[in-house]
Amino acid sequence: MTPTSGTLYVVATPIGNLADSSPRSIEVLRAVDIIACEDTRTSRTLLAHHGITARTVALHAHNEREAGEKLLRTLRDGGNVALVSDAGTPGISDPGALLVTAAHREGLRVIPVPGPNAAVAAYSASGFISDRFLFAGFLPAKGSKGLDAFDGTMPVILYEAPHRMLDTVQALLARFGPQRELVIARELSKKFEEVARMALAEAPAWLAAGPHRQQGEFVLVLGPGEERRAPEDAERVLGLLLESLPAAEAAKVAAKITGAPRKELYALAVKRSK
Ligand code: SAM
Repeated sequence: MTPTSGTLYVVATPIGNLADSSPRSIEVLRAVDIIACEDTRTSRTLLAHHGITARTVALHAHNEREAGEKLLRTLRDGGNVALVSDAGTPGISDPGALLVTAAHREGLRVIPVPGPNAAVAAYSASGFISDRFLFAGFLPAKGSKGLDAFDGTMPVILYEAPHRMLDTVQALLARFGPQRELVIARELSKKFEEVARMALAEAPAWLAAGPHRQQGEFVLVLGPGEERRAPEDAERVLGLLLESLPAAEAAKVAAKITGAPRKELYALAVKRSK
């Protein structure tokens, strides 16, 4: 960073309700030389609402490198740049990370202007008690393979497109069973906002309860799975089973009972049987 180089501001914007813009975000957008927008037409609504006339350029998934180069030049020359996405926080399931990485690489100043984010908003209204969560973004288009990572005790936050909601909820139900809890947060901060918490078994019917229920924008929060037993517990269960079962069988049953990894239990069982 030279004393004369500019600052890249990563600015969060509303996820539906224009009143959610922070005063600071407006101040920054008003003051910068260029606003890099995921889509200049989408951001125009917000900018016009606040009477902001700064120059805008497009920076989206398909031009992030070339457009980013020009913005870096502006920053090097002492100009200030704000990065915004269509809604919410840039870089969260949205473009922006490449430009931010390049700015860091050049030692330029990067300052976030925090604000709306659909994942955090949905999680805050989910009520799941946990000091950690997994943000998994959008699930891969095909298959429920991505779901294997969600077995743990952490709540999982997902973004989902409206036309895939029913399939995704059914995949979650098949994988995690009817009792696991789910929060569906729909149209957050907008006119038809709904936040509903239910057992997975009830989710398909909730979605089918009206045509609007599968329209709009959605965040899903999958509740935490059951606590796995402590490792000492798994060892104790394994020890008991080894009194009457061979190592492989004992490890398999102990893994089922305790949720501990079968491979680790098998290695332990072999060691104990020696
Ligand atoms: N960067 C954004 C953020 O900070 O939340 C997320 C962008 S991602 C491309 C868009 C997805 O976020 C939508 O498909 C939906 O899953 C979720 N989302 C955005 N706005 C929302 C809203 N108002 N209510 C519910 N979900 C929303």
